Amino acid sequence: MELLLRDMRDVRAFSVTVTAAAVLSNLALQSVLIPSDMLGQIRFPGSVIALALAAPVSFFVGLRLRDIHRLTLDLRQAALHDPLTGAVTRARFYERAAEIGNVPMTLIVADIDHFKAFNDRFGHLAGDTALRQVATTLIRNCRREDVVARFGGEEFLILLPGTTLVDGARVAERLCARLRGKPVLIEGEHLPVTASFGVATVESPAAMDAAIAAADDALYAAKRAGRNQVSIAR
Ligand code: GH3
Ligand code: MG
Ligand code: MG
Repeated sequence: MELLLRDMRDVRAFSVTVTAAAVLSNLALQSVLIPSDMLGQIRFPGSVIALALAAPVSFFVGLRLRDIHRLTLDLRQAALHDPLTGAVTRARFYERAAEIGNVPMTLIVADIDHFKAFNDRFGHLAGDTALRQVATTLIRNCRREDVVARFGGEEFLILLPGTTLVDGARVAERLCARLRGKPVLIEGEHLPVTASFGVATVESPAAMDAAIAAADDALYAAKRAGRNQVSIAR
């Protein structure tokens, strides 16, 4: 059983339950341990003391439990998402792939073109902004069930559950065109940023690394062919 206190309502409910349990247990204990002729005098002050102790202590504990729950959520968010781009992490990518299981899947590898030159020309901070905008474009142009992960510096992996290689190629073409048509906006200036894409079939979640290698080979074919385009693994 997990005790999750999400908000003040949960904290209050926790405090009321614990306080009621303390007062009732105190009353039950009194009726067993205290002779009946003294019970009348002890019952009321005993209950007041139980209430006065249990209410603030349980409220304080409730607040801390709520804080722990919030921190756990923050930690999970940090562990699963890349802080710069909001894309999921490499570890989460593999976790999601295993959760999706044995359905037909396609994998796209996307790598920003000439990004070193972009950094050299406009600065690392502008590069970071460009990375964020590219990731946002990729995420917004994928479905909810797709997994968009940041795998390396300027490299993203996109897993498309329930798709064939033909579907995957179509998605990669669309993403490539969206980036081409949407220059990044940095300090009021529109700067062109493109990416190259490799597409491969995922035979099974266990064969993910083979699929990544195949999509990577296709990506390098796209780079060699002039960048800003899609190549499909054969
Ligand atoms: P190619 O078209 O062949 O991919 O060329 P490229 O310049 O994009 O590739 P290369 O691997 O030579 O350089 C990748 C660059 O990406 C170098 C590195 O500074 C930059 N980069 C990686 N991670 C980050 C980041 O988090 N922020 C910024 N601003 N730049 C990054
Ligand atoms: Mg690159
Ligand atoms: Mg790269």
